[in-house]
Amino acid sequence: MSVRAELIAVGTEMLEIGRRDTNSEWLTERLSRLGIAVRARSVVEDDVATIAQAVRAALQRSGLVLVTGGLGPTEDDRTRGALADALGRPLERDPEKLAALERFFSRRGLPLRKKQADRPRGSAWIPNPVGTAPGIAWEEGEVRLFALPGVPAEMRAMFEGGVEPRLSHIAGPRAASTLKIVGQGEGQVDALLADLYDAPGLTATILSGDAGLELHLRADGADARAALERLTDEARRRLGGDVFGRDDDTLAGVVGRLLEDRGQTLATAESCTAGLIAAAVTEVPGSSAWFRGGLVVYGNELKTELAGVDAAILASEGAVSAPVAEQLAEGARTRCGADFGLGVTGIAGPGGGTAGKPVGLVHLALADAAGVVGWRLSKMGERAQVRRRTVTEALDRLRRHLLAARA
Ligand code: ATP
Ligand code: MG
Repeated sequence: MSVRAELIAVGTEMLEIGRRDTNSEWLTERLSRLGIAVRARSVVEDDVATIAQAVRAALQRSGLVLVTGGLGPTEDDRTRGALADALGRPLERDPEKLAALERFFSRRGLPLRKKQADRPRGSAWIPNPVGTAPGIAWEEGEVRLFALPGVPAEMRAMFEGGVEPRLSHIAGPRAASTLKIVGQGEGQVDALLADLYDAPGLTATILSGDAGLELHLRADGADARAALERLTDEARRRLGGDVFGRDDDTLAGVVGRLLEDRGQTLATAESCTAGLIAAAVTEVPGSSAWFRGGLVVYGNELKTELAGVDAAILASEGAVSAPVAEQLAEGARTRCGADFGLGVTGIAGPGGGTAGKPVGLVHLALADAAGVVGWRLSKMGERAQVRRRTVTEALDRLRRHLLAARA
C-alpha cells in the first residue's frame, strides 16, 4: 500500500470570498507525479485549536500530512503552536536558528520576531531559500508531517528543496505525465485514444479549458515508467500536431521557443482581445527576446492611426472583418518591426452581434514577409471565454505556421 496524503491549508482568508487555496492544488499535482494520492484536503481558520484538531485527525488517518500557511512572525500565524499541540510536544526555541535570524534581521535593520525560531521538540527545519520563515518537518516511524509557509512561491521552493527529496523513497511505483492539446474537443480526444488507456494500471483524465485540453496520463505498477512512455508515445502519434507540449508547457512558451530557435520576433495588434495575447506571451520568462510589443486598438481611429488600417475599408467592411484583421496583422508587423504580426478583431459579446456578424465572430490574421493569412472563427461562450479562446487560437495558428515552415 502506498502512502496517502492529506493537505491542510491554514488561513481564515481562504474561508472568505475571493481567496483560493491554490497551494493545495499545486501540492496535489506534485504529489501525484510522485505516485502519492491525496485522500483529503481541508481549509482551516487561523485558530490554534482548529488547526491542531485538523492535524491530529489527519495524522491518525494518513502517513503523510502537509500543512501550508500560518508560519510567519505575526500574531495570526498560529501553525507552530498548533503543531506542537497536535504532536504533544512542547514548542522549543532553537538557539542556532535564532542566531541566524538575528543576523539576517539586524543586517537589514528589521525588527526580529523570535517566534520564527520555535519548533515542536523533535522536529527538524526545512530551509527557506526565498524568505525568512523556515518550514517544519516531523518524521516518526511511518508518519510524516511537513509544515510550509503560505506564500505560494516560498511553499513551492521549499517543497521542491526540502520535502520532495524526503518523499522519493515512499513514492509508489507510479508515473504520470500530461499532454497539452489544442484543436480538438474532449470527445474527439477520448474517441481517438480510449482503447489505449482501457487497460489495467493505466488511467487518463481529460481536462478542458480555454487554453486547450490537458490529457493527464498515469501508469501504476512495477513497470510504470515504461508503460507510461509507451502510452504517451502512442497518444502523441495519434494526436499528431494537435499536441503542443507536455507537463508545464504553455502555448505561449512553445511559440516563444520556436521563434527564438529561428531568431525571429512577433508583434500584435489586438482589438477584441485588447492585449490578452500580449499578456499571455509576456508571461513567458525571457519573452523580450522574441516579442517586440503590441498595439491595443479598440477604437477605429486608433486602428488607423496606430496600426495603419485603411479608414475606407473600416467604413465599408466594418471593424470586424477579414481585411481589417489582415491590415492589423500587417500593421503590427511593420510598425513594430517584427517578423510576424498577429491581428485580431471580433465580437466578444454579449451585445453587438448581428445576423451577419454574430457574437463570437472573430477575424484573426497572421502576417509575415511572404504575405498575410486570415481565419474567420466562431467562438463559443460568454465574453471572457470568447476572448481567452481567441488568444489560444491565435497562438496556435502561429505555432502551426512556424512548425509548417520548419518542416
Ligand atoms: P509569512 O511568513 O509570509 O507570514 P505564512 O506561512 O504566515 O507566511 P500566511 O500568512 O498564512 O503564510 O500567508 C501568506 C500569504 O500567502 C497570504 O497572502 C495568503 O493569502 C497566501 N496563502 C496562504 N495560504 C495559501 C494557500 N493555501 N493557497 C494560496 N495562497 C495562500
Ligand atoms: Mg503570515
